[in-house]
Amino acid sequence: MNEARPERTKRPPPVDQVLRTDIGTVASERFGHPATVEAIRRTLACLRASSQTHTNVLYDADAIARQASALLEREDRSSIRRIFNLTGTVLHTNLGRAILPESAIAAAVEAMRFPVALEFDVEGGARGERDDHVRGLIRELTGAEDAAIVNNNAGAVLLVLNTFGAGREAIVSRGELIEIGGSFRLPDIMARAGAHLIEVGTTNRTHLRDYEDAITSDTGLIMKAHTSNFVIQGFAKSVPASELATLAHTRGLPLIHDLGSGALIDLSRFGLASEPTVRQALAEGAGLVTFSGDKLLGGPQAGLIAGARDLIARVAKNPMKRALRIDKIRLAALEAVLKLYRNPDRLAEHLPTARYFARTKPEIAAIGARLQEAVATAAGANYVVTVADCTSQIGSGALPLEKLASASITIRPRDRKQGGRRLTALAAAFRSLPIPVIGHIEDGALIFDMRCMDDEDGFLAQLPELSDVPAPKDEPNVLA
Ligand SMILES: *Cc1c(COP(=O)(O)O)cnc(C)c1O
Repeated sequence: MNEARPERTKRPPPVDQVLRTDIGTVASERFGHPATVEAIRRTLACLRASSQTHTNVLYDADAIARQASALLEREDRSSIRRIFNLTGTVLHTNLGRAILPESAIAAAVEAMRFPVALEFDVEGGARGERDDHVRGLIRELTGAEDAAIVNNNAGAVLLVLNTFGAGREAIVSRGELIEIGGSFRLPDIMARAGAHLIEVGTTNRTHLRDYEDAITSDTGLIMKAHTSNFVIQGFAKSVPASELATLAHTRGLPLIHDLGSGALIDLSRFGLASEPTVRQALAEGAGLVTFSGDKLLGGPQAGLIAGARDLIARVAKNPMKRALRIDKIRLAALEAVLKLYRNPDRLAEHLPTARYFARTKPEIAAIGARLQEAVATAAGANYVVTVADCTSQIGSGALPLEKLASASITIRPRDRKQGGRRLTALAAAFRSLPIPVIGHIEDGALIFDMRCMDDEDGFLAQLPELSDVPAPKDEPNVLA
């Protein structure tokens, strides 16, 4: 045991001595000897470095152990941290896109905890196929003859282009050579798929004859990409999918339609602009439609391919399919999410993404009103806290021009002159809460859009910890 009075020395204590303190012993038990020694070394190195700019430094083994332990504690925290998404972007790619409904969480947990009949036909006792778990549901919900599932939609596009375009030509309109955030560029994917890209038309106008003229004996496919994250307005023309489908059909070519966000139902029921559904894209004649699991669908990350039976069969035979396959955890979650779509009228009750879309401004403002006072108290006298109108967006490139009327808690500094610095520090303080709160700064105010607020108790419980100081750096730099 150490004496009640901490012993302070002019020279840094040896690592061993820090390790033998009570705190050092507990840390070593919990985090392991090597990691604890390493953390003590780093703490000591920091202290030595800062002692060069300070005189009369006294070292205290207990305090050093405490710092090393705090360092270990911070590093032990899950790197994927829960946050409050109050950015106003419902499907935020950097914040993990869709959050899952309870039924999908339960299904995923079950698949993690137990062996599951993933590629096994329980009744027949024979080998099964993993895609079978959702194939029937996708057929039912989209009208497709068949379906295949992979890791994500980028993978779906890569796989489909490789299957029909490797060593051949793929025709795409110049107006649809899209880039999705995070380095997904259609021409690059095309090249990696081994397909030779044949661009037709111009940025703003492409005609049917442009496609017709480009078809040769080397053509492997015609592709249509949904320009989900931008809009070309004015003197613009693109060829409707139905006309392209007729052309592709008469020339014996598959029409591949990359829908991207991939709505399964008409979003106008949530007051959103109409986004083409997978069913519509197939009805227009696409041979295959590719779309994401974690965008408008509101499920786990996945790439869904729906369409004609013979085309799906060729996709499934491509060895690349094995490299891009989805895991059992997300497959279980996806099945549960798809099941919710069987009852669209109750979708918003169960599917968080649909619930967020369906929330009306008065509902959202009411959430803001319930939290306003607590936020004002936590922020302190230097700020004015109000509930104000704002606009949310869908995110993930879906319906980019669609603004959803929403409400926010808006925090403005009383003193306009030093407003900018204050706001940045306040935003950092909200981010350094145990569950970081993420909003955005706009027009001299910190704005927390309440559309995606689901855990008011959790939000309120941590507010007293708010302090108007930027988050501490990861390395300890306080002297003992
Ligand atoms: C988002 C998107 C992709 C990529 O999908 P991920 O699920 O992010 O892999 C591909 N094409 C379009 C049109 C998209 O919108």
